[in-house]
This record gives sequence, C-alpha cells and structure tokens, in this order.
Amino acid sequence: NPPPTLLHPEKWCRGFNHFISQCLIKDFEKRPSVTHLLEHPFIKQVHGKDMSLQKQLAELIQEQQQLGSIAKTRRPYHVDRADKYSLDDDLVNLEVLNEDTIIQQLQKRYADLQIYTYVGDILIALNPFQNLSIYSPQFSRLYHGVKRSSNPPHIFASADAAYQSMVTFSKDQCIIISGESGAGKTESAHLIVQHLTFLGKANNRALREKILQVNPLVEAFGNACTAINDNSSRFGKYLEMMFTPTGAVMGAKISEYLLEKSRVVKQAVGEKNFHIFYYIYAGLYHQKKLSEYRLPDKKPPRYIDNETGRVMHDIVTKDSYGRQFEAIQHCFRIIGFTDEEVYSVYRILTGILNTGNIEFAAISSQHQTDKSEVPNPEALDNAAALLSIGSEELQEALTSHCVVTRGETIIRTNTVDKAADVRDAMSKALYSRLFSWIVNRINTLLQPDKNICAENGMNVGILDIFGFENFTRNSFEQLCINIANEQIQFYFNQHIFALEQMEYQSEGIDATAVEYEDNRPLLDMFLQKPMGLLSLLDEESRFPQATDLTLVDKFEDNLRCKYFWRPKGVELSFGIQHYAGKVLYDASAFLEKNRDTLPADVVVVLRTSENKLLQQLFSSPLTKTGIPAFMDKVGWSAVDTMEVMRHPEETTNMKRQTMASYFRYSLMDLLSKMVVGQPHFIRCIKPNDDREALMFSHERVLLQLRYTGILETVKIRQKGYSHRILFEEFVKRYYYLAFKAHETPLGSRENCLAILEKSKLDNWILGKTKVFLKYYHIEQLNLFLREV
Ligand code: ATP
Ligand code: MG
Repeated sequence: NPPPTLLHPEKWCRGFNHFISQCLIKDFEKRPSVTHLLEHPFIKQVHGKDMSLQKQLAELIQEQQQLGSIAKTRRPYHVDRADKYSLDDDLVNLEVLNEDTIIQQLQKRYADLQIYTYVGDILIALNPFQNLSIYSPQFSRLYHGVKRSSNPPHIFASADAAYQSMVTFSKDQCIIISGESGAGKTESAHLIVQHLTFLGKANNRALREKILQVNPLVEAFGNACTAINDNSSRFGKYLEMMFTPTGAVMGAKISEYLLEKSRVVKQAVGEKNFHIFYYIYAGLYHQKKLSEYRLPDKKPPRYIDNETGRVMHDIVTKDSYGRQFEAIQHCFRIIGFTDEEVYSVYRILTGILNTGNIEFAAISSQHQTDKSEVPNPEALDNAAALLSIGSEELQEALTSHCVVTRGETIIRTNTVDKAADVRDAMSKALYSRLFSWIVNRINTLLQPDKNICAENGMNVGILDIFGFENFTRNSFEQLCINIANEQIQFYFNQHIFALEQMEYQSEGIDATAVEYEDNRPLLDMFLQKPMGLLSLLDEESRFPQATDLTLVDKFEDNLRCKYFWRPKGVELSFGIQHYAGKVLYDASAFLEKNRDTLPADVVVVLRTSENKLLQQLFSSPLTKTGIPAFMDKVGWSAVDTMEVMRHPEETTNMKRQTMASYFRYSLMDLLSKMVVGQPHFIRCIKPNDDREALMFSHERVLLQLRYTGILETVKIRQKGYSHRILFEEFVKRYYYLAFKAHETPLGSRENCLAILEKSKLDNWILGKTKVFLKYYHIEQLNLFLREV
C-alpha cells in the first residue's frame, strides 16, 4: 500500500500528549506506514490493552488518508495560482466553458469523491449517498480561518466564509441552500450548524449542545419518508444562529414555514407519516407503555398503518425507531423542555393517533339519512381521554355543527364523510399547532441571555426548505412546495444576475451582460393579484357551489400563458412548466385543502381540555406577523427582492385565511428575513435517482445544471464583479492597507484607488460610487488586513 499522506502530523496528533506525539511523528517520518504506526511499541507498551488509543489513532489516520487522497489530485488556485487553467476546484477556471466541460469536471471529481466544487463564491455540493469521514472536528479545525485555496472545496469553507464575513464586517449573513428533493440540503444545513457551533465557541458549552439538538428534534416532527427521500423535509426552515460581536454563539431561532399537515391523516402509496409518530409508537411498544396511551399493540393506529403490515414488522423486529424515540427524549431534555411539557406533547401525539381510529357509520332513519354515529365508541373514549376532553362533547363536535341563522343557533348533523373530514381537520390542526408550539418553545429556550449584549448581536441564517418535487401524482402540497422553490430560484437570479447587471449600468461600467432564464413571468402567474393562480384559487374557494372542476376551468380561462396547459381527457388535471421542469397537477381536493376549515365546534371542545398545553394551542387564532405591508401597495407579483430591500421595516399583521393567502404571506415573511443578510449560495445536486453512491447520471446532473443556471453562473463569475462596495464603506473596511491606523481618510474615489494600488490587486474597476471587485479579491484583501 502506498503510504498515507499525513498532511499535518501536528493535527492528527492533537489528541495525544506532547511526548507521545513527538515519538509517533518521528517514527512515522522514518517509516510512513499506518500498520507500523499502530504496532508502535510505545503505544503497545505504555498503553497495554488500551485499545481506545489505537482506535483513535486509526480513525485519525483514516481521515487523513481520505483528505490526503483528495489533496493529491488538487492544486492551489486563486490567490497564489501559478497555472491559471489547470485548476479544477473552481469551475470558473475552466478554459473552455460549456455544459460538456462543466459536467466532465464534476463527474471526474465525483469519481474521486470530491463532492464539493466552487463556482467563484458559490458552492456546488453533489450528494455522495454514502458517509464520508470529512466532517469531524479535525476537519473543522482544518477549515478554520484559513484562505480558501489552502484546502479542497468543502461545506465548512462556505460556513467559515459566512462566519468570517459576519465577524469582520459586523453584518448578518444568510446561507441559502437549494436543490431538488433528496439533493442533500438538510444534511448540508446540519453540517453548517456543526461548523458554526465549532467556530462560535462560547464558554457556554450547554448552549452549544442545545443548538446541536435543534435540528434532530424539529426534523423528527417535520420530516417524513417520501417516494424520493427517506428523510424528506415537509416544511421550510430558516435557522438563525446568533453571535456576540466577538463571534461567540449566544442563541438560535427557528422560523418554520408551511408544514405539510395533510400528511398527518393521509399519505400517498409508498410514503409515510411524520417520523415522530413511528418513533413514539415504537418507543412505547418497546417500553411496554402502549396501554398507558391507549394504543393497540397488534396493529398500529390507522394514521401510521399503510396496510402492508410492514410498519408493524419494522417496529417489532427493528430497534431503530425505538432508539430514535430515546434520542428525541434526549433532545427534549437537553434543550430544556420540562417533563410536564414533554408528557403533554406525548399525550397530544397519541391523542391524534387515537383520533384517527374513530370511525363513522350512517344512521338511517325515515326522516334523516345524513346523520352519523361512532360504531367504535372505545376509540372515541381513548382519543377524548388522551386529549383530556369529554368523550360526548367530542362526539358531538365531530358528528354535528352549529349554524347561526338570524340570531338563532341551529344544530345540524354531519354526514359520514363530513364527520370524517372534521375528524381529520382536527388531527391536522392539533399537529400543526403542536409543531408551531414546539418551535416557539425552542426559540424561547434558546434565546440569548439578556445579560449578553444581544442588541449588538449578529446572525447567520440558514435556509433549508423542501426541494422541488415531481411525483406521479402531484397535489396542492406539491404546488406550494414548487412555488416556494420557484421563489428561491428567483431570489438567486436577482442576486447573481439582475442586481449585478443593474449596478453595471447605473455605475457606468461596461460589462458584458449574461443571458439567463428569468422565471419572473412564471412567479407572476402564480402570485399576481387579482388574476394569478393563487388569487383565482382563493376566489373560487369563496363560492360554496364551486368544485375542483370549476376551479380548473377558471384556471384555464384566466391563465393564458405558455406556462400553463390543460391536458386533454383528464378533467381535474393541469400542467405547469416550472423552472425545474414540467409538472402535472391533480386538482382533486384543491378547494378543500385551500379552505382549510376547522369547525368552531371543534375549537370550542378542544379549549375545554384539561391538558394546559392543548388549551393553549387553541386559545388564540394563530397569526403570523412580520409581513412587508408594501406588497399590498405595489401590487402582488413575484416577491421582488429589491422591493423587500427597499422597505425592510414595513410590516403588517395578517389574519390567517386560506392556505393560499397564508402561503403567500409566509413567502413574504421568509424573503423579508433573508434579504437583511449578505447571501451565500449552496447548490445541492442529486447525481442519480437511485440514491446510489458513486453513480453519476449524466442526464440528471445536466438537467439540474441547466435549470439552476450553473453555466450562466460560471460565466458571470468569470466576467463579472460579484462584490460592489460603496467608496465610503470600502475605505472604512480597508484603510489600514494604505493609511495609518489613527488616520480617518475620506471615503473618496482617490482614497479607494490608493488602497487598491497599495494592495497590488488586478482586475478591479471603479464605478461612479462603488468599487467593483471579483469574488477572490475579498479573500485577498481580508488576508492582507490580517497580515497588517
Ligand atoms: P428534501 O427536499 O426532500 O428535504 P434534501 O435536499 O433535504 O431533500 P437530504 O435529506 O439532505 O435531502 O439528503 C437525502 C439523503 O442523502 C440523506 O438522507 C443522506 O442519506 C444523503 N446525503 C445527503 N448529503 C450527504 C452527505 N454530505 N454525506 C452523506 N450522505 C448525504
Ligand atoms: Mg430536506
């Protein structure tokens, strides 16, 4: 075997004391063999049977080997590049730039397990579909505060860049991770949090521990197995990590968007409910506590039983769900939930599972055919007991409803179908409100200590939403998910192309424009008022007589553009040409899902619960705040990043109405958070649809490169100036490079020129009010700053 490339012995020896390290290093220099090192008499004699030391060493060496094998094929670039065009860590260095060369480069790197590649300051991450040992603390150390060209591309380097930029310029940062379902966004988000907690070392170890538990906990409730991804995010997540002005982590905050709550009551074939339901059922099964929560032990409750018997088989034979339940209990504890709170959460979860088992049957009498009863009253009692409400009251709320006509209250009965709908609506409301409560509670528990100067704090936000989806059958949920992705793509385009080109014009700079696919017309088709798809959906939802068919007719009559079409012969179907491909939607239940009604009778009953948490969930209507009010002024269209930037402070309250309006507001809310920070983009790419390691499907990767505009991105990064800094700002940041520390030079063009000339950079341009820099200049300038 070739000797491993142990790049930095001082690093891999860090785990040992100085004396042992020196011995090992010397010996290893003489004979660079791992086996030999493990057989080192020192380790054997001194530590005798202490295998842990040997194991530790072996692991460290293995890591270094992996890093070494990556390092063997890479060459330095940017700052100290000697050979301009043989550099493959960054696609910007490609001499011949087209789809073929880009894909070849990525394919070659993927075969070498180099899953990360730069496009200037943007990171491309190919999903490896296997565990790589490149994420340990050793790697975090390796990527800490060094110039980017010192190491191969890595997600830690991107996290590091965001962190350094935050600390250096005291500015909030925002890392936007995009890619289709299963491309690796959530994994990437975890790794970023891991590296940021490493960088933001505070004395408060407990806080760091807490922050690391946030993702696993929230994802147990918000992720599920889909046909595409076993751990698919079914909500959007914006996690802000807060730091003190010196860069120590001091807290965290999550915002959640659009949980796919319909999954609680129904899942497509081959898909599952949210993870937590399996964890809790299995956990209680193994702890022999199912009866305490009134759950059957032979057959799982209907909401998590996909009829194949597979679920029960997995629960009984495999321990993994049960272990996950223990992990979740651990997360709750570490983050700081009280035992009482956790118990209430379990009762609500098992209450939902029991609710799903309530059945309805028609009572036919001569006079009434639309009345229903519950043929399995024990299910009703179980659900009522766990939700701590009266069983009769629950039955009444499910099988009848009050109507107020001319001041008089009349009780009407529900048909079997209607009663089942009310039951499911109740379960969905319980779950989604519980989810929001958990998120809010985490935010309270992780908010910065008032004693730390929170007002001067800064944050790095990490956006991880559900990726673009195209299933065999696509419903309302997929439409929302795909519109959200459309919006993120629009945000990317605005930042990478539109804003940049606008600035060239206004600053009188002659830079060649790069053509890109603008998805604004498509977003307008969805979001515009009053004729956009979502508005039409809301309008139709207001007519009691409307059906899903009249809805699709309405779409067809009003959405006359090339992005919408209606296939012949399938009544309830319509197609959309998304930026990421054509998707055929099935409009069944669109109106019902959009109306999202929860009868007042159910709310009244749930408010009587003796479970304090449950009472709280229904004590006030859930409203969201923080929505830019100007959107109503300027008219609804694609959520315009520039518009949000101009009016970041204006917000309004919003009353929750339909899903479509809630969705629209959520998008605004998200955007208004994102635009505050300096963006960093990570583009995740799925190399194949079979989730196979090392398999690179040319066709699938090409498609993703095309629709995310990677070729154009490479072009603009080659030709363009990704950093545009006002003269004043530039002088403030870098005056040290050309002036004395005590001087306060004016933010003038001349002073910028002096700094730039002193720092010997090339290829920059001065506009009318701004300095135009290439992405790599920033790193160079910061390095010079550190040296000064
Ligand atoms: P969705 O939009 O459905 O939420 P996603 O983009 O968040 O999808 P992930 O859940 O992050 O996708 O990734 C899917 C799977 O790919 C993971 O469960 C994991 O098995 C694998 N994976 C992704 N990134 C990595 C990585 N860096 N190392 C190892 N495995 C990975
Ligand atoms: Mg995800």
